[in-house]
Amino acid sequence: MTVRTAIVIGGGVAGPVAAIALRRAGIDAAVYEAYPTTADGVGGSLAIAPNGLAALRAVGAEDAVLAVSRPMPGMVMAFGRRRMEIPALPGVPSLRLLWRADLHRALHERARAEGVRIEHGRRLVSVDEPGPGVVARFADGSTASADILVGADGVNSTVRTLIDPAAPGPLHTGLLGFESIADVEVPEDPGTIVYAFGRRGFYLYRRHPGGGTEWGANLPQDRPWSPAEARAVPAAEWLRVLAEVHVGDDPGAELIRATSPDRLQVLGSLKIMPSLPRWHRGRMALVGDAAHAPSNSSGQGASLAVESAVQLARCLRDLPGPGPAFEAYERLRRPRVERVAARASRINHAKAPGPVARALMPILMPLAMRTVMAPERAVGPEQRYVIDWAEPVGQAQP
Ligand SMILES: Cc1cc2nc3c(=O)[nH]c(=O)nc-3n(C[C@H](O)[C@H](O)[C@H](O)COP(=O)(O)OP(=O)(O)OC[C@H]3O[C@@H](n4cnc5c(N)ncnc54)[C@H](O)[C@@H]3O)c2cc1C
Repeated sequence: MTVRTAIVIGGGVAGPVAAIALRRAGIDAAVYEAYPTTADGVGGSLAIAPNGLAALRAVGAEDAVLAVSRPMPGMVMAFGRRRMEIPALPGVPSLRLLWRADLHRALHERARAEGVRIEHGRRLVSVDEPGPGVVARFADGSTASADILVGADGVNSTVRTLIDPAAPGPLHTGLLGFESIADVEVPEDPGTIVYAFGRRGFYLYRRHPGGGTEWGANLPQDRPWSPAEARAVPAAEWLRVLAEVHVGDDPGAELIRATSPDRLQVLGSLKIMPSLPRWHRGRMALVGDAAHAPSNSSGQGASLAVESAVQLARCLRDLPGPGPAFEAYERLRRPRVERVAARASRINHAKAPGPVARALMPILMPLAMRTVMAPERAVGPEQRYVIDWAEPVGQAQP
């Protein structure tokens, strides 16, 4: 059965890229996003890795992202006063940092320029599968139909439970996320990001081009907090908790002191997806965080989401019908995303260490960075991955 039309649920990162890639594969795709506008309530910034840029390039969307991002060639790990530069991978472009809202806007504009229709305010609630196609039903009572449906609806995916009602949901990493901009300048190069293991918590920071310092903190917490629950606590109270955790951290303590509560972004629990038993059923398949959210510690969630979107479209382009295409897609993607998730999970443990591990960290980390965590070994296979869009996907060996 030839696939000619697709409904893409979710207009975050994977959704618009999937729609662009599907159109380039000859499939007419439309995106349905739950939120009424592109501002999705989760602001902050994120970094696109070289492999994510390569996947965007494969479908002509790289320039749009380059135009709204800035390079981050320098990376430093800091343990108290001890600093270690993380050497860049030779021959690989640097990470690109951008505001999430700018990424969404750039991808939406690119998708529209490719002829993709994007509809906001359309929250998927259920799907009918009347024989040869799918009918998506939205919360506003409207419907849409197509040959297939792609779930790019993020870590709390509805499509995932429609594919498999018994599918596991996301897990709490044990860390709460916070981001802000402090009214103080750190003496760092503007192209350098510092990953700092403080005395009792992990944080990162970099100079903000408009003045001040952008920072993010991961606060260890035993229980999960939804974003709404975490935001119900006054920002000034969270800043007080963060100040306590980062007391004595340089410059962590100062960054928190110089942050105004109205600029604190409270993200709630950082989540990961456990390995899913299935990524597809019938005419529905998942891409991005809906299938494989590897934790923000990997720095790869968005890049893997883009890769999966492009690979799904390649499989649909080259294989006969959704069944074989979805199977090839899952075979192609699962080992890669699960390797990244395993690395991120090791980092998450390091971000919330027990007292002994914390004391040993300044000694063990530099050693690890020269051996098991050496950049080429740890992230080389992730960042050097390039999708050849022109290469046909084989049924047995994608
Ligand atoms: C604090 C933090 C920092 C991060 N930093 C990085 C980073 O530096 N680099 C990186 O690569 N990744 C990072 N990530 C991960 C990255 O944000 C995700 O991996 C990426 O956004 C996944 O894209 P997606 O399109 O699959 O999901 P999302 O971006 O979550 O998009 C899903 C979309 O689907 C919509 N939706 C949901 N349900 C429905 C429905 N029922 N109907 C219609 N629409 C629906 C949502 O509104 C949303 O717009 C970070 C994550 C967090 C939390």
